Amino acid sequence: MTDVLTPVLSRNWADDRAWTLAAYEAQGGYDGLRRAVTMEPGEIIELVKDSGLRGRGGAGFPTGMKWSFIPADNPNPRYLVVNADESEPGTCKDIPLMMASPHTLVEGVIIASRAIGAETAFIYVRGEVLHVVRRLQAAVREAYEAGYLGADVAGSGTRLDVVVHAGAGAYICGEETALLDSLEGRRGQPRLRPPFPAVAGLYASPTVINNVESIASVPAILAHGVDWFGSMGTEKSKGFTLYSLSGHVKRPGQYEAPLGITLREILELGGGMRDGSELKFWTPGGSSTPILTAEHLDVPLDYEGVGAAGSMLGTKALQVFDQTTSVVRCVLRWTEFYKHESCGKCTPCREGTWWLVQTLRRLDSGQGQAGDIELLLDLCDNILGRSFCALGDGATSPITSAIQYFRSEFDAGMHTPSAELFPPAASTLF
Ligand code: NAD
Ligand code: SF4
Repeated sequence: MTDVLTPVLSRNWADDRAWTLAAYEAQGGYDGLRRAVTMEPGEIIELVKDSGLRGRGGAGFPTGMKWSFIPADNPNPRYLVVNADESEPGTCKDIPLMMASPHTLVEGVIIASRAIGAETAFIYVRGEVLHVVRRLQAAVREAYEAGYLGADVAGSGTRLDVVVHAGAGAYICGEETALLDSLEGRRGQPRLRPPFPAVAGLYASPTVINNVESIASVPAILAHGVDWFGSMGTEKSKGFTLYSLSGHVKRPGQYEAPLGITLREILELGGGMRDGSELKFWTPGGSSTPILTAEHLDVPLDYEGVGAAGSMLGTKALQVFDQTTSVVRCVLRWTEFYKHESCGKCTPCREGTWWLVQTLRRLDSGQGQAGDIELLLDLCDNILGRSFCALGDGATSPITSAIQYFRSEFDAGMHTPSAELFPPAASTLF
């Protein structure tokens, strides 16, 4: 088995005072920052580039490269924005990270801001998690009092202010440009890219937007070095990461492990499937990523491995379903979510998700019509690649992959309700 005993982000989660500055510093907290203030901004960017750290929000874009896109000749202020609007179904890693160890994020924010030359940073937190907002605010307050934030960051002579901002609970505000609109006080809807935020982001100024886990990974890289980081993970997907395991498993939760571990190995850590459960299908990265099946148990959970298996690593939200689950009902639930969360800006997603739900509801209730499967595939074909942002594309992934692996269940929807084939009482999920 891959060496899984490398907890870095979650190393102190068992300590119920881990969120305090004193507990964080007692475990070497802010050592990364102490090193960063001895380095030039460009050196920090080069180090993060060399580490191979890739964005942990889903897309896997190289973090150091993103920082290097900030134009040197733009006179506007630069901003760092942390995307803490975690909402992808099944994804629950950033919220526990911020609750258990908010200073890991705050330290990462300070280092990243130094690297890109930002004097103001925002942490945009999903609106529903007020307890996380409060915890982050407390950590930011402590950091000011300790001199890590404010007019003279850790004695470096540079300024940094951090604002914790609560969203209002819209999934689309996790899309980086919709998040910026929301932060500016407007209705959150995606902007056209390019220009990417690195060039014209918050208030049309150069802005780096990173996921919580990406930023929280930076202090350890500064403290322990790139070789240490690269000793975990794979050639192209380096380091450790947090996987969210949920569903028909004995011990759901967050599992920190190197990239490249397999679902089989994570299931072992999670005590295996529940008694009487057999793996039927699973998502590698939340419901926006194509589902996989038991034949993919040994696929390396890294960007390349999951891609080669026909899906995406995404947010590393491993939702596991057993034989009692109706694929049609499960996909319907996810599609209802996307229809509800579609921001309405573009026609393929706004109208398409509505039609997908109507068609799936027919099949789920056993009243499907001849041609409904082809209709679903045609709708997906007209949404994928024709939507304004990734929400529309993501909505099609579970449907097309479910039809690929479980077409007979969709066929059965012409005459038999899902509830008859998979009685809900047999399953605590869908
Ligand atoms: P993307 O690949 O378009 O962009 C990734 C990042 O790289 C962005 O920050 C973007 O600004 C930057 N980037 C890409 N090309 C660039 C360029 N040429 N110049 C400058 N910057 C560039 O992905 P995306 O649309 O931002 O995000 C999609 C991902 O979000 C999906 O993979 C999905 O897994 C994930 N997602 C996460 C959640 C969550 O709750 N964490 C929710 C929904 C979706
Ligand atoms: Fe809005 Fe959906 Fe279009 Fe994205 S794809 S802009 S969420 S309507």
